[in-house]
Amino acid sequence: MTAAMYDLMDFDEVLETFDPVMGLEVHVELNTQTKMFSSSATNFSAAPNSNVDPVSLGLPGALPVVNAKGVEGAIKIGLALNCSIAESSRFARKNYFYPDQPKNYQISQYDEPIAYNGYLDVVLEDGTKWRVEIERAHMEEDTGKLTHLGGVGGRIEGATTSLVDFNRAGIPLIEIVTKPIIGAGARAPEVAKAYVGALRELVAALGVSDARMDQGSMRVDSNLSLRPIGQEEFGTRTETKNINSLRSVEQAVRFEMQRQARVLEDGGSIEQETRHYQETNGTTSKGRPKETADDYRYFNDPDLPPVIAPREWVEEIRQTLPEMPWIRRARIQQEWDIKDEEMRDLVNAGALDLIIATVEAGAQPSEARSWWVSYLAGKANEAGVELVALPITPQQVVRVIGLIKEGKLTTKLARKAVDGVLAGEGDIDEVVKARGLEVVRDDGAIEKAVDEALAANPDIVEKYRAGNKKVTGAIVGAVMKATRGKADPAQVNKLIAAKLN
Ligand code: ADP
Ligand code: MG
Repeated sequence: MTAAMYDLMDFDEVLETFDPVMGLEVHVELNTQTKMFSSSATNFSAAPNSNVDPVSLGLPGALPVVNAKGVEGAIKIGLALNCSIAESSRFARKNYFYPDQPKNYQISQYDEPIAYNGYLDVVLEDGTKWRVEIERAHMEEDTGKLTHLGGVGGRIEGATTSLVDFNRAGIPLIEIVTKPIIGAGARAPEVAKAYVGALRELVAALGVSDARMDQGSMRVDSNLSLRPIGQEEFGTRTETKNINSLRSVEQAVRFEMQRQARVLEDGGSIEQETRHYQETNGTTSKGRPKETADDYRYFNDPDLPPVIAPREWVEEIRQTLPEMPWIRRARIQQEWDIKDEEMRDLVNAGALDLIIATVEAGAQPSEARSWWVSYLAGKANEAGVELVALPITPQQVVRVIGLIKEGKLTTKLARKAVDGVLAGEGDIDEVVKARGLEVVRDDGAIEKAVDEALAANPDIVEKYRAGNKKVTGAIVGAVMKATRGKADPAQVNKLIAAKLN
């Protein structure tokens, strides 16, 4: 189905009648060496079904043992989200038929999560702060992975064969659940995006997960309902799954608002169901009717003792938390003394860490910013890759800045040197040498070029002598051309002045 085939209400019209209520559930895969309840490895590249053991295969009689690193990761996330950390929490069995989880239950946490009652302050595009309240962050295990063959686009519909890989089964997951987000109105899609973006940044800064939405190490489900403006009681929600980019989070919320509003306006009702986000056209499509908690028959897992988190341990972990990304950002912005807008641009360009690394390697902040944002971001854009993926290091940028300072390269030549590095021709010094980029210092050669240029442009010489000192641009241009851009413009100007005065 395409978006046009859905009967959607105009977004602004939705807000005349309805008030959106939103809830976000984010799963974060921890980057522990071993699984949550067994010693199998977790590496992504392993051959299918090689990272398995009796516990992750759910063989009878196998006993799970809690991974302390997994608990530590959960506590880190909980603390960073301003949650209370339970001194004692419990694992429960969530019963369900999982073709990719052979014991037919998932070990999760239910009424005694490890972290609860927190918040995350996020900043919206216009700089407004929005507080998202966190209901809980709990530990659970991931399922295996199914691959469907014979259908269209790897989907189960029309498939003739399904393959299962249990390598992922048992990898630690932290599920972070917000309290209902109310009052966002027209900004609901933006709040959702800002929250997931901030959470992703936070989790990556904590070092507990690489938090890649595109690779599934961070997964978002977005719950949305509408209620008539002025009504206290929440409407029925849908839960949209399969969202794998920040842009999609925003679009999924927007789409559900517009779809549900039309259904309700036409006198229909919303079923509590899961829906699937369609990356290709930004729509959601019907999944399965949503189970209620009762359907899962949760009960405490008798194989696992309570998780005890002594206060001293929690405080020790608190001491290891890094500076929160947004605090670091504010500090750096102040240190560099730049405007909000410029800061936002360089953050959006993915340049912040690269600029910081370049400054740490010896560049001035303004020089580092100029290279990464004004020049390299454009190159990344042209190549269709992330800035960080460009084949140039902060050290190389520092080197090229140094060569400009020493007068060995002009900005123009420096760009050519950088282009060479990007093209894989070697490091800055190698490219400068191979392409013969170094500024010509030979006074004789430059003087000759100046003399020739002056002789070829008598009209300019005349104007200059008549008092118009600004006409020398054409002479400089001619000299640059004659030296293939390798003369130092300052030196050329000096020579011209000396000859004409
Ligand atoms: P489930 O197990 O059904 O996924 P969770 O409690 O894990 O339920 O998550 C539900 C999410 O939806 C939470 O973020 C919650 O705040 C939010 N939520 C609950 N009720 C509503 C509602 N009526 N409309 C929108 N969001 C809701
Ligand atoms: Mg849930």
